[in-house]
Amino acid sequence: MNGSIASHIARRLGPLLRVRPRRVSLAGGVVSFSFDDFPSNALLTGGTILEKYQARGTYYTALGLAGGDSNVGPIATPEEICETHDRGHELACHGHDHLDYSRAPLERIEDDLRRNSDAFRELLGGYEPVSFAYPYGRYLLAGKRRLATHYASCRGTTGGANAGTADFADLRGTRIYAPIFKEAALRRLIDRSKAAGGWLIFYTHDVSETPSEYGCTPHQFESIVAYAAERSPILTVRDVMARLERPAATGEAAAE
Ligand SMILES: [Zn+2]
Repeated sequence: MNGSIASHIARRLGPLLRVRPRRVSLAGGVVSFSFDDFPSNALLTGGTILEKYQARGTYYTALGLAGGDSNVGPIATPEEICETHDRGHELACHGHDHLDYSRAPLERIEDDLRRNSDAFRELLGGYEPVSFAYPYGRYLLAGKRRLATHYASCRGTTGGANAGTADFADLRGTRIYAPIFKEAALRRLIDRSKAAGGWLIFYTHDVSETPSEYGCTPHQFESIVAYAAERSPILTVRDVMARLERPAATGEAAAE
């Protein structure tokens, strides 16, 4: 089998094979809001909206991009990243250089993760992120297995709720993107996830009146936050993991 066919198969196989299956049973459901790449307005606008509802977000940050420009707008500076941490949001890993992990050798991925961890430790006094999201949502099976040993959870870009048995090496993430935004459909998803005791993780990039195609407007974002806040707890990804670790005797969560 030649290399390109092998890697094509590996790319297809990765998402199909569960690496860390685990039962999700959260009475009343839980919702998380996350931001990939961390453009500045994800805190200034998105984070401020979450705080209005006494909630916090998860920021999947590639520190190699910090302070630079991008197709989702200016990326948060080191100062803004520190402020995010101080305001109680979760800083999570998105690699260092925003590589496509489905095309990088494992050694390069390990190096990329190490550099992001080093940068986090240096910036935030020894801080270690426990959550990860795949850049572009892409990976190969070997990389997925490796990532699962480094982080408590890894999030992908396949939409839907994490309910029943979920793969914690590729948690489902549902996009809030302006060009495809359908408020009624997202509301139904929140309702269904709640009924199933599921965990719904939303993600977007920039939150702006003139968003990129990977971001949304403040009004769109707030409409979903407000709807979720009335129905289920809104927790960071890290806090949901902590809640799942609680003994099953609490009746809220069970792990297998
Ligand atoms: Zn990204």
